[in-house]
Amino acid sequence: MLLPKFDFHEPTSVDEACEILATFGPKAKVLAGGTDLMVNLKKKILAPENLVCLSRIDSLHGIVEEKDQIVIGGRYTVAELTVDPLVEKKLGALRSGARALGSPLVRNRATIAGNIGSARPAADLPPSLIAYGATVILVSSQGKREVPLGDFFKGPGFTELRPEEVLTEVRVPVPTAGQGAGYINLGVRKAQDCNVVNVASYIALDEKDGSIKTARIVMGSVGPTPLRASGAEAALVGQKPDEALFLKAGEAARQDCKPIDDFRGAASYRKAMVGVLTKRTLDIAYRQATGN
Ligand SMILES: Cc1cc2nc3c(=O)[nH]c(=O)nc-3n(C[C@H](O)[C@H](O)[C@H](O)COP(=O)(O)OP(=O)(O)OC[C@H]3O[C@@H](n4cnc5c(N)ncnc54)[C@H](O)[C@@H]3O)c2cc1C
Repeated sequence: MLLPKFDFHEPTSVDEACEILATFGPKAKVLAGGTDLMVNLKKKILAPENLVCLSRIDSLHGIVEEKDQIVIGGRYTVAELTVDPLVEKKLGALRSGARALGSPLVRNRATIAGNIGSARPAADLPPSLIAYGATVILVSSQGKREVPLGDFFKGPGFTELRPEEVLTEVRVPVPTAGQGAGYINLGVRKAQDCNVVNVASYIALDEKDGSIKTARIVMGSVGPTPLRASGAEAALVGQKPDEALFLKAGEAARQDCKPIDDFRGAASYRKAMVGVLTKRTLDIAYRQATGN
């Protein structure tokens, strides 16, 4: 399959990238690792007249802890997330998502912004990032805005991102003592497969009585965008964590999702697995929150 014709732009700064995007508007597409976009070009799903490649913009690459946030550059690759010491120490659920994504070949090219920008309902990084309460920074020649990742996804392939914007950073609040998160994905095969179900859970415990102060549960592959399990979250808040409570939350999460039947799995199977993964990710989150 041949690629469609396009003009290739290689800006060296975010300002320059934004100028090019402002000039061409919807006729341009940002290119990061290309593991999603190039497939769509080859399949003729997309045919932008201009590609704006980010690979020469050094400021988009890196990770740093700034006060109470971990700031990850849009070009940081999935492979880098899997081995980064800061991610390993503080964002274990994100690391689990990165390790589950694709194959070594794909992880070496794929970027965090590309995984978010492609807006696939089964993507591996958004559930844990939403569960941690992450925001994304979107920059254009008109200025900069910060959007909670939980409000970013509009449908498969559709997001809050405007054609003239670059996703420059993902900002993740640093979990402190008494907070923890877990992520588990389930596919038909171990690698190179689209998830059947993927779930991330985050909890924060009240330091006085150990009850659950905040809970965020995010389910992937069971709706057009990553979905919050609001019934499960409500069942957890104010309660003392234990096995029975996490089983109850898993049951509530099953009611919170609306999966479809497809060749990867029946809706009833997906619902059942949402319950199982919610319980298991809550177990991981609780172990982290209590330092065990
Ligand atoms: C064989 C194979 C296996 C895969 N397995 C998985 C998997 O297991 N889990 C999973 O989640 N995904 C998987 N993917 C999908 C893909 O690899 C990931 O979504 C990847 O993270 C995309 O990142 P990228 O940098 O390659 O994005 P690109 O393909 O470069 O871009 C994807 C989209 O995001 C936009 N974009 C990228 N960066 C920015 C930015 N900084 N600002 C604004 N817009 C931007 C692009 O315009 C495009 O619309 C797989 C893909 C392949 C080919």
